Amino acid sequence: MFSIFKHHHGKPGKELLTKITRFFQALVFPDQCLNCRGLLHPAAKDPSEARACFCTFCLARGLPRFEPPFCSRCGHLFDAGDNHVCETCLKNPPRISRVRAALAYKGLVPEIVPLFKYQARLSLARFFEPLMKEAFDRYFKNTGIHLILPVPLHPKKMRQRGFNQSYLLVRRLARSHPGICGTSFLWQMDVTSLKRVRYTIPQTGLDIAVRKENLKNAFHVIDPARVKGANILLVDDVYTTGATCGEAARVLLAAGAGRVDVLVLARA
Ligand SMILES: [Zn+2]
Ligand SMILES: [Zn+2]
Repeated sequence: MFSIFKHHHGKPGKELLTKITRFFQALVFPDQCLNCRGLLHPAAKDPSEARACFCTFCLARGLPRFEPPFCSRCGHLFDAGDNHVCETCLKNPPRISRVRAALAYKGLVPEIVPLFKYQARLSLARFFEPLMKEAFDRYFKNTGIHLILPVPLHPKKMRQRGFNQSYLLVRRLARSHPGICGTSFLWQMDVTSLKRVRYTIPQTGLDIAVRKENLKNAFHVIDPARVKGANILLVDDVYTTGATCGEAARVLLAAGAGRVDVLVLARA
């Protein structure tokens, strides 16, 4: 990395300045695949563009969108046919009205979500944000949502991680809807009404019954007056068994919420 300084002792010409500028640009905007550190397509510069984030090799594994056919309640993806209510939801109607996502948890997706969440590769947010906006517009824009509520982290986890990945996915949503912001909000971002009051062990590898037990009473509604009668959109990174969002929905509905929907980055 110091090779750029080697051949220019005493004569810092224009070429050297360009090289130094590029060196610092590369620190801020690395032209490396966010997954494997391989080289990126040189023409791709827009961070919301897939090939500006991932190399051709990684992209070949696919970033499949969340698309029909899926269960119209829990968003479970089907291989073929039309949207319908899945057997699980028919037998046991979930508390959450609708689960929708930006991506399917397949291909490259199961690798890049942990990079974002656990390794703080936060530049991925620039790639995820437009996908979340697109999914929000498609599924929830005109459904009478009052509050957008990123699933909160326990304060201890927040201190360890330093950021709430769910909030990062939608924090610019208001800015991307200027027509709404200019006048009165149709919906508001809410990061205070729901609190995580129990520090839970990671869910990965636990079966559904243990997951549910693990999350029991993990959330508390701080501001029931705000939640009462409100249609709430919970935002999370991944929806697998739905234990986390299900428990959050349970306390929100118990506090008087009108309806709880879920938007996630990826549906497993
Ligand atoms: Zn790669
Ligand atoms: Zn279902």
